[in-house]
Amino acid sequence: MRTLFPATIAGSLPKPPWLAETHKLWPQWRASDPDEQAAAKADATLLWIKEQEDAGLTVIGDGEQSRQHFVHGFLENVDGIDREHKVSMGIRDNRYQAMVPQVIAPLRLMQRAHQTEARILRAHTQRQTKFTLPGPMTIVDTVADQVYGDRASLAMAFADLLNVEARGLQADGIDVIQFDEPAFNVYTADAATWGIEALERACDGLTITTAVHICYGYGIKANDDWKTTLGGEWRQYEQVFPALASSSIDQVSFERFNSHVPPEIIALLPGKDLMVGVIDVASDQVETPEQIADTIDEVLAFADKERVLLSTNCGLAPMDRNIASQKLKALGAGAELARSRHS
Ligand code: ZN
Repeated sequence: MRTLFPATIAGSLPKPPWLAETHKLWPQWRASDPDEQAAAKADATLLWIKEQEDAGLTVIGDGEQSRQHFVHGFLENVDGIDREHKVSMGIRDNRYQAMVPQVIAPLRLMQRAHQTEARILRAHTQRQTKFTLPGPMTIVDTVADQVYGDRASLAMAFADLLNVEARGLQADGIDVIQFDEPAFNVYTADAATWGIEALERACDGLTITTAVHICYGYGIKANDDWKTTLGGEWRQYEQVFPALASSSIDQVSFERFNSHVPPEIIALLPGKDLMVGVIDVASDQVETPEQIADTIDEVLAFADKERVLLSTNCGLAPMDRNIASQKLKALGAGAELARSRHS
């Protein structure tokens, strides 16, 4: 029987100061020498595997220590993209203005993007492992297209590349592949149609567990400002959950603690595993195990306990490392407390 209330992170964790700049979403690497940089990435990955295990997490990730950014770590391995001549583009429906690379030729995966860190992860924990990839729709919202003509076609092209990588990760022994789709909460109508179609295409042929992470973003000012415009109840998930419920994706992650997402919308995901966000990534206040177990209690009014996992609301990349460590420990302790309440 599987563990009740498995605990896992959304994906990213802070990079140690000897690996990269700290408190940044797009940090510069410390070492310019490729061998030194690779060694530092491997060391940081090992460190966070150990911290997740010590915190009592059930499904362990690489903390995204080997990628500079959750989308561009994958894109660095894609041919057909001009990274030299970036253009300014409003992304997430103009929430941020970003300098983005351009798609200038048909896309092709040049080599495996994440094999090295996936193999380190697999070799150094006996627990279940999860690996995160950017979702096709979110990638489309992070590049300027000069070739494919419409966002859905570009998403399908990226989905094919992601599928190659995902099948490779499955062969590397990873247990869960999670696609990160913050764009699903922004372009809700498109998400429910071609967004999910592209996601399923990226998962084609996978026999391991598949997951999608949909969030309201990292705890940075642009996101905090955006959230103030969303009203007292955040109902974005309501558009996409019914389409996800009838999709082949196994697990759905959503924000809960300190968010304005009403718990009853969970009822729109019958049959899915629910990764409940119990850790706020926009606050340095460390959650107590009681707060976390209480968050799970609220969810259990709408979902069977066998389908509930605990997670962070989003990645912890820009956070202070010590606070992130404490939040991991709280996540593990909160899961344990929820188990003692409901076993
Ligand atoms: Zn997120």
